[in-house]
Amino acid sequence: MTRLLSIAQARELVRAAVVPLEDEPVPVEAALGRVLAEDVAAAHDVAPFDSSAMDGFALRAERPRTPAGTTLPIVGESRAGRPAERPVGPGEAVRISTGAMLPEGADAVLQIELADEAGGRVTLRDDVAPGRNVRRAGEDLRAGDVVLRAGTILGPAELGVAVGAGRAEVRCARPPRVAVVATGDELADPGEPLRPGQIHNTNATTLAALAMQHGARVFTVTGAPDTQEGTEEALAAALEEADLVLVSGGVSVGPHDHVKPALEALGVEQRFWRVALRPGKPTWFGVRDGVLVFGLPGNPVSSMVTFLLFARPALRALQHAPFDVERRAAVLTEPVERQPERDEAVRVALATGPDGTLRATPTGPQGSHVLSSMVGAAGLAIVEAGDGDLPAGAVVPVEPI
Ligand code: AMP
Ligand code: MG
Repeated sequence: MTRLLSIAQARELVRAAVVPLEDEPVPVEAALGRVLAEDVAAAHDVAPFDSSAMDGFALRAERPRTPAGTTLPIVGESRAGRPAERPVGPGEAVRISTGAMLPEGADAVLQIELADEAGGRVTLRDDVAPGRNVRRAGEDLRAGDVVLRAGTILGPAELGVAVGAGRAEVRCARPPRVAVVATGDELADPGEPLRPGQIHNTNATTLAALAMQHGARVFTVTGAPDTQEGTEEALAAALEEADLVLVSGGVSVGPHDHVKPALEALGVEQRFWRVALRPGKPTWFGVRDGVLVFGLPGNPVSSMVTFLLFARPALRALQHAPFDVERRAAVLTEPVERQPERDEAVRVALATGPDGTLRATPTGPQGSHVLSSMVGAAGLAIVEAGDGDLPAGAVVPVEPI
């Protein structure tokens, strides 16, 4: 038998097949979770002007300081969004609010708690040196500073930064169009009563959800019977409009596994089949006219794991994000039995130990049909093939889920 591909080798074949999608302008309010396709630079200084960090009184401080006990006439007010109408001269004060523009001529603010006001005048209860309670223009960003890099996945903070930088729109990759095809005569729709031999089609839901979670627009979720014609028909429709097709089941070597021949008949060129991985050995990957097709094994855990290891990086790269998910090193809290010939993706819960190290604990029975072991799993620990147990305390790379 030919040697199986390693996870890394299989991933390189996926990486090589990805052509990033074109980008489009997206209003910031619609861009949550999208991937930036451009660098965003500040259009102006942020903050745009010198302002007060406190409610209080702005003044022109003497050098080195205006002494406590000084009384100044209040000659105006600067409120948030409504600057003072006249500058502050020596020996004058202007009432000022937090975030309001520092009036011309002023260089310090004494907070209201340290000021006594009476009859249109304010008496300072503390010495005031220049710069006190002043936030400078550009303290956060300078005009022209790049604040977000292409490839960044936009979360709430990134969107806020884009708005602060002067943007109403950002260029993002178009969302990949994804089709999910679940094969199998045994599959019943969610909520359907089960006839003998049937199981609920969990993969259609998990795979569609995983794809959406990673930025895809899932435009169709269909089933296919275990016949060559039925499989071809479902896949032909999916291939017409998709950037990426996720097929579940039917990719092993049984007499009722039709996915490989159906894809070959449809002109999808195989790039790999079978990986030295548990769960997920039968994983298939191919390409037709730039459309990426993943044949994922039907066992519910296998299909999730192989999505995460092979299809997720492809979805990321289609959207201009880095192909690789950042792996983290974690310490195993329990021994894990190694597989002699296949690397294993072990579902783990993650916690930070008292010494700050990341700790990985397997979530329970790791059978590829035990979908409940994915619930509460925060990562996939990659345990290399070998003999005997990998002991507790061993350090393993973990891909976050
Ligand atoms: P297959 O890869 O088609 O040989 O399927 C392997 C195992 O996964 C079998 O026990 C199937 O019943 C199960 N399976 C296949 N497709 C699904 C699905 N969409 N949802 C849940 N289980 C599935
Ligand atoms: Mg099947």
